[in-house]
Amino acid sequence: MKSFMKTFSCFLLPALFLFALPFSQAEAFQARILPSRIHQGDAFMIKVSGLKGTAEPSAVLEGKQVLFSGCGKGCFVAIAAIDLQSEPGIYRIPLKVGRRKTALRLRVLKGRFETIHLTLPEEKVSPSPEDLERIRREADLLNSLWEVQSERLWEGSFVLPLQNPLSTPFGTMRIINGEMVSIHRGLDMKGLEGEEIRASNRGTVVLTDELFFGGNTVILDHGQGIFTVYMHLSRFNVSPGDLVAKNDVIGYVGSSGRSSGPHLHFGVKVKGVNASPVSIAGLKL
Ligand SMILES: [Zn+2]
Repeated sequence: MKSFMKTFSCFLLPALFLFALPFSQAEAFQARILPSRIHQGDAFMIKVSGLKGTAEPSAVLEGKQVLFSGCGKGCFVAIAAIDLQSEPGIYRIPLKVGRRKTALRLRVLKGRFETIHLTLPEEKVSPSPEDLERIRREADLLNSLWEVQSERLWEGSFVLPLQNPLSTPFGTMRIINGEMVSIHRGLDMKGLEGEEIRASNRGTVVLTDELFFGGNTVILDHGQGIFTVYMHLSRFNVSPGDLVAKNDVIGYVGSSGRSSGPHLHFGVKVKGVNASPVSIAGLKL
């Protein structure tokens, strides 16, 4: 009996976290957070289905509006992400459909991130005042991009831009000369110089520029505050303003910017949050 109860509660509890129970037969709907296991830094989706009326759902995560769009009759889907430095635990996501209000419980598990220790000569660690000024300018430019919220352009699941093995994973902490200097907020993928890099999803090119850290960088706006970032390219195959389809070649692998060899740094932004690229590519949209 005891073990039955244990099995029962293990089974029941996650279900309670994931489902909003129907209000009444007339206004019954289901709201789910997918996938079932979400770690710090992961992207996830909220799916609301079984809606009878015309009202669109709206939800708020960490004070930011979550944007829904249609996924068939009575179905709405939203992509969201939880920052990799957010505390593990339960997050409450208020959800509204028409006059109906409920809340979803998002359970965030502890992510497993790697730590890399490096020892470098001091002059390689501290940028010059001119470089610092450039780094600041470019950070401002990028931060202003993430604020933009265009209409949805993404279609179906996101794909990885290369079919190659990963090198440095998302979330890796770099400790240089004993000091924590950065968290790797993208994913490094191995690549050969000149290899084709493909768009992760449909979107508009909002930046093709040479940045201090990223070197030749392409940024795509997929709408609803979702962006993908491609760094260290040898050259571009797109220009700002271009509308690209998923899998279009946007540029070629290189080693520009702060890079020690040809590879692609691939980043994903969801409403200003750096999301794990592997997690967004795993969503069945
Ligand atoms: Zn990287």
